[in-house]
Amino acid sequence: MSQTVILVHKQQIENIKKYYSSNLQPTPSGAIFRAKTKTCTITAYKSGKVLFQGTGHEIEARRWQSNDLSSNKSTNKTSSAKAKHSYYPPSTIFTSNHMGTDEAGTGDYFGPITVAAVYVTQEQVPFLREIGVQDSKNLKDPKITEIAKKIVKEKLPYSLVKLHNPQYNDLQVKGWSQGKMKTILHYYAIQKLMKKIDPIKPEAILVDQFSEPGVFIRHLQSEKHSLPENIYFMTKAESYSIAVAAASIIARASFVLEMDRLSEEAGLYLPKGASRKVDETASTLIKEKGRESLQQYAKVHFANTTKAEAYL
Ligand code: MG
Repeated sequence: MSQTVILVHKQQIENIKKYYSSNLQPTPSGAIFRAKTKTCTITAYKSGKVLFQGTGHEIEARRWQSNDLSSNKSTNKTSSAKAKHSYYPPSTIFTSNHMGTDEAGTGDYFGPITVAAVYVTQEQVPFLREIGVQDSKNLKDPKITEIAKKIVKEKLPYSLVKLHNPQYNDLQVKGWSQGKMKTILHYYAIQKLMKKIDPIKPEAILVDQFSEPGVFIRHLQSEKHSLPENIYFMTKAESYSIAVAAASIIARASFVLEMDRLSEEAGLYLPKGASRKVDETASTLIKEKGRESLQQYAKVHFANTTKAEAYL
């Protein structure tokens, strides 16, 4: 049977229970609580053991695995052992009122980079779970768009920043790495959302980590920005934090929308990603509109440009 067992402190069980408060079931004997979602049954025992059963067992268990006292003998040690640094989040932040940030479009030849920040209070968690907020990598684009619309309609505080291709290419020529661009975009998204929710301050800010925190800080300093307070970095954060998951959905939905808009403007369908289909489309664009037109639609320093030229 598909299941995951983790071992956590008693106090953490309360946090887990709170998280699943809208899914509680009658408590079996020997247990502290049982909850049932569409894909997973969660049972927490007085011994500190928490059992996740069902098709969604891995996804649900992963939310709490950073608290797993038995994790050093589990198979999950690569991410926890390697990723820990002084900005690694304490497990308490996942159940706090926190802000999460994530981006989309960085690996795609065509289209902008979009970065979103979302502020989630604990009261909003059941709603977000109900509409299916989870790691956007597990969802198809139409579903992402549908969920993003619901998030926006609910007036959940969020911010969105986009770096369009002409500016991207300018910065790249000036010597900015993509890492620096992402850093500054995440910073802007955080600042924008901080202003929006002012005077409320999030208990923490969690960035879906794309570089070492030291590199992030250096990029900020190079633009005379300082690191926001209570900021944490974690890889695969969208699996742990619903705020980061919501941000990943908003960022991706915005990217998808921008790609539709750009395709319409270009008069031909611009594929996502960086595959051979992308090379072929780029070569069609060059033939029809000239090489300069790529500035409008693509991240021209990608190897796809050279590959596209080979088709000419
Ligand atoms: Mg990410």
